Amino acid sequence: MEKRLDIAPLSEWGMFTEPRPCVIAGPCSAESEIQIMETARQLRSFGINVFRAGIWKPRTHPGSFEGVGSPGLKWMQRAKKELGLKISTEVASEKHVFECLKYGVDLVWIGARTTANPFLVQEIADALKDVDIPVLVKNPVNADIDLWIGALERLNAAGVRKLGVIHRGFSTFSKIKYRNEPGWQIAVELRSRYPELPFFCDPSHMAGKREYIQEISQRSLDLGLEGLMIESHCDPTCALSDAKQQLTPDDLKTLLESLVVRETDSDSQNYKDNIDQLRSQIDIIDDNLLNLLASRMKISRKIGEYKKENNIAILQASRWDAILEDMVKRGGECGLSEKFVTAVFNAIHEASVQVQNDILAGEGE
Ligand code: PEP
Ligand code: MN
Repeated sequence: MEKRLDIAPLSEWGMFTEPRPCVIAGPCSAESEIQIMETARQLRSFGINVFRAGIWKPRTHPGSFEGVGSPGLKWMQRAKKELGLKISTEVASEKHVFECLKYGVDLVWIGARTTANPFLVQEIADALKDVDIPVLVKNPVNADIDLWIGALERLNAAGVRKLGVIHRGFSTFSKIKYRNEPGWQIAVELRSRYPELPFFCDPSHMAGKREYIQEISQRSLDLGLEGLMIESHCDPTCALSDAKQQLTPDDLKTLLESLVVRETDSDSQNYKDNIDQLRSQIDIIDDNLLNLLASRMKISRKIGEYKKENNIAILQASRWDAILEDMVKRGGECGLSEKFVTAVFNAIHEASVQVQNDILAGEGE
């Protein structure tokens, strides 16, 4: 049984003024006082309230720019004082937390590489005991929802109630359009398990390239996520880290203006009636689908018993390939994508093979 989380709603965090999306913006890394002040000033000019900059950078390869360390916190503190911004950075150890508290950091986040390490998460959680600043937890680099939830549980158990998550996608070995695999289904699953958890998307690290940031941001708003963390640098092409994915403040402004924010609900009676009607239709179809699947499984079981009696192997792969090909073709004719039809029928087939296996092993009798 999963533990419930005790979460303070975003409205109590005292960080964001606009309702949605809540935006955190700023450079990948703090590089110089001039770069921090210039970027912060430009972002502030169009209403950004929460500024980010990486101080300690977890880099894949040694020798790349690993952050300026604590002096960068002084520059951020200046941006906070002179521009009235809230400031935020990534922490990966107890020492980072203490440094942040010393310089008045308003929000910290745990990076993807750190979330994957329960020892470090526990160390950070212990350092944050009795500290009332918000903490955002990025998804771990690997697509493991339990590892993500475990980190949330550790922080919550240490008394962190201003707790939220950032979805930045997952490392992948396959060649894909983005730097990280979106794996939206994991975000959707986490949202449905903890609907009260403030949810951000980091389209910059998911995209890896400026040109894809808009479409990912829109997608995350369409899914109902509350916030965006986007990298912005006053001179992106000269950035010391993640140069390809950072936007100028001007481009960020244009991007934010282009986003369509969907309502999570509507007060209109007409909308409610229509959506209720459509939902009851879906419920009936789901019911039929369940009955059909159960009938199909009954027949699978019979086939399994028959194969057992006649000493026939369960898997006849060529027959399944032909069925699937036909299903994909017919699915396409009624507007269902190949990916969808393949996933559904492979899942059905797998369950059916499993039932027959159990029968052959004597468990289904
Ligand atoms: C970052 O936000 O600067 C960062 C390093 O991101 P991630 O942990 O998602 O790689
Ligand atoms: Mn970055």
